[in-house]
Amino acid sequence: MKLEILPLDSQKKPIEDETRLVFGKQFTDRMLVMEFDRAQGWHSARIQPYQPFILDPAAMVFHYSQEIFEGLKAFRRIDGEIALFRPADNIERFNRSARRMCMPEVDSGFFLDALRQLVRLEADWVPRSEGTSLYIRPTMIANEPMLGVRPADQYLCYIILSPVGAYYKGGIAPVKIWISDEYVRTSQGGTGEAKTGGNYAASLYASELASKAGCDQVLWLDAKERRYVEEVGSMNMLFVYDGKIVTSPLHGTVLDGITRRSVLTLVKEMGVAVEERALSVDEVLEGAQNGRLSEAFGTGTAVVISPVGQFTYKGQTVELGGGKIGALTRKLYDTLTGIQYGRIADAHNWVTPL
Ligand SMILES: *Cc1c(COP(=O)(O)O)cnc(C)c1O
Repeated sequence: MKLEILPLDSQKKPIEDETRLVFGKQFTDRMLVMEFDRAQGWHSARIQPYQPFILDPAAMVFHYSQEIFEGLKAFRRIDGEIALFRPADNIERFNRSARRMCMPEVDSGFFLDALRQLVRLEADWVPRSEGTSLYIRPTMIANEPMLGVRPADQYLCYIILSPVGAYYKGGIAPVKIWISDEYVRTSQGGTGEAKTGGNYAASLYASELASKAGCDQVLWLDAKERRYVEEVGSMNMLFVYDGKIVTSPLHGTVLDGITRRSVLTLVKEMGVAVEERALSVDEVLEGAQNGRLSEAFGTGTAVVISPVGQFTYKGQTVELGGGKIGALTRKLYDTLTGIQYGRIADAHNWVTPL
């Protein structure tokens, strides 16, 4: 398939002051679009001006949520070069999500080239200050107008770009976690492993309850027993328990995070043992009180690493590490961002130059 580059038809948008960027609110001048139908496969790939789509009100995505997405970042490194972090892993996961949602896969080589081309054209939009980046959002939706319930015959795949500010303005700060004892995000056999919008729609109600309780994020327990910790919002959860890293195994309900994967590699190299096992909510609460649980943090592309300062469960709140950031959490944050921004050598080939 050929990638067509269409000219910008209007004035370029002004680039916002980097210190005032709000996550996901501003988008660049161009986007990548490609279309799929059963007869032609993927076709009409183009980089075009960023603009709204015209969609039929019967488009299947509006009714049955056939939708997937990805999230990755382009960084301006300290040597001035722009680079992506493990982009091939994101595209591979995009295709895994596509299979789960009965959507067509993309050609991973073509898609990565097209993504790089788009970021190259929009290079001015990659912010320059410490901790900032250009967030990349590949998305696929079913746009066939049809009210029958079946996989669509027509899809739209696109990539939009949004400059993002430093997540932590005043240095990395701990979050307050609300553990959901009633609502669940997904269940065994469900779509928890796919990055699909429906998982997020289903999570909003519990997020509102968390917010009313003065907390920042929901920690989900397993659907069957409401006993084992799985993940948080859009982050995987890692715990430092008895000096080892403990995290939920990837057994179908937890998203296979690329930040999680990277952190597990780094901690093993630091000589810290890793246990991928079921960890119960009781172990978390007791551990926070008796000191066996010394640190806990979430991992995800948007935040990189987010330390936990407290847990609230059934109205009871326990603090962790006196609200301070643990030493291992801090070290992992510094190491991972160091690799991304080029302060630390990239021994794993995670960084892909543009
Ligand atoms: C995207 C996402 C993550 C984090 O994945 P990364 O690849 O590290 O960004 C974790 N959990 C859920 C539910 C997600 O959607």
